[in-house]
Amino acid sequence: MVKKPFVTKEKVKEIASVYPTPFHLYDERGIRENVINLKKAFSWNKGFKEYFAVKATPNPFLIKILQEYGCGCDCSSKTELMLSKTIGATGDDIMFSSNDTPLDEFRYCNDLGGIINLDDITHIDAVEKACGKLPKKMSCRYNPGGVFKITNDIMDNPGDAKYGMTTEQIFKAFEIMKEKGVEEFGIHSFLCSNTVTNEYYPMLAKILFELAVELKNKLGVHISFINLSGGIGIPYRPDQEPNDIFVIGEGVRKAYEQTLTAAGMDDVSIYTELGRYMMGPYGGLVTKVINEKHTHKEYIGVDACAVNLMRPAIYGAYHHITVLGKENESCDRKYDVTGSLCENCDKFAIDRMLPEIDMGDYLFIHDAGAHGFSMGYNYNGKLKSAEILLKENGSFELIRRAETPKDYFATFDCFDFYDELIKE
Ligand SMILES: *Cc1c(COP(=O)(O)O)cnc(C)c1O
Repeated sequence: MVKKPFVTKEKVKEIASVYPTPFHLYDERGIRENVINLKKAFSWNKGFKEYFAVKATPNPFLIKILQEYGCGCDCSSKTELMLSKTIGATGDDIMFSSNDTPLDEFRYCNDLGGIINLDDITHIDAVEKACGKLPKKMSCRYNPGGVFKITNDIMDNPGDAKYGMTTEQIFKAFEIMKEKGVEEFGIHSFLCSNTVTNEYYPMLAKILFELAVELKNKLGVHISFINLSGGIGIPYRPDQEPNDIFVIGEGVRKAYEQTLTAAGMDDVSIYTELGRYMMGPYGGLVTKVINEKHTHKEYIGVDACAVNLMRPAIYGAYHHITVLGKENESCDRKYDVTGSLCENCDKFAIDRMLPEIDMGDYLFIHDAGAHGFSMGYNYNGKLKSAEILLKENGSFELIRRAETPKDYFATFDCFDFYDELIKE
């Protein structure tokens, strides 16, 4: 598939004349169309709800768009809970899927009325200690161990993952929680990340539905929701076949009917906690070419670096790059596209075939809308970029300003230090 940016060079030039590069740009239209389709694909389930994984793109302006479609917030830290509270997501609109959780974060979530999803059996005591008693509605995270295979491919290795409870522990946990007054139960599991196959969710669903039936039959608990969590991926590479959310929804529906409906449990709500799938393709990192270098290789230096998008540096992840305005030129040059960090892994692309690049060209780095800006950091004294929303009507809005040196120095108490600097 040809990967086309959602923005033209002309529009980028217009934006860049107001807000200098680099910046993360988000596509309102794409975000809306995608969430509408997700909801349609699961509309067969009365209680369906997506809890957007806040960590993927923690920008209140963007999450508010999803809220219009009834989405809640999946949080894993106190500041993410605070962000959710700020945009009016409280109570059942919050799923707290944390791990290695400090006591005060359980308390904070409980005060907001959010649903606590326990990562470990020892956290039953922790929640009791933090909140006085257990909430009426709670969830547990499940980890079946072993490897997760689809046909013969090993997708991921849950046995190596720090998350969730074993089968034995989740039975024990539900028993204890029931005894301690919990009335409504949920099951959550996240076994593979960034899956680009329509089979992952239906297979995961089947495992969780069977577990739910067993838990209900053995312990007499009322399971009111099953949370399939995140993991639906996106095609970062042009040769990857994208997921079809309708096929996925239908696959989950079949598993639901075969297992839950057959067991008389057709009142179970399906929840998701998607991050990447909701925002990934609808954000791009826009950066300008500021240097070229011809040594042992051909280098193109841009004004963004790994602090703006660290997936290539830490995972060797592929992000497609379009040279804006040269969409139709042949890719007959081989470049390394680099940022300015003093780290050789700071490369957005290695040996990438691209059209001939000129100084001042704008590059659009695709699929940076999730786990992009949010993973940023300040190494080398680099400042985090702005985030801009490209609206459906073609106008644009600054939804997070770029950091300034003042932000960078703000945590030093000797703050005059900064005031001195700006006088220079
Ligand atoms: C990261 C995360 C998600 C979202 O994952 P994606 O790969 O972005 O879909 C959902 N739930 C939990 C608990 C997570 O940690």
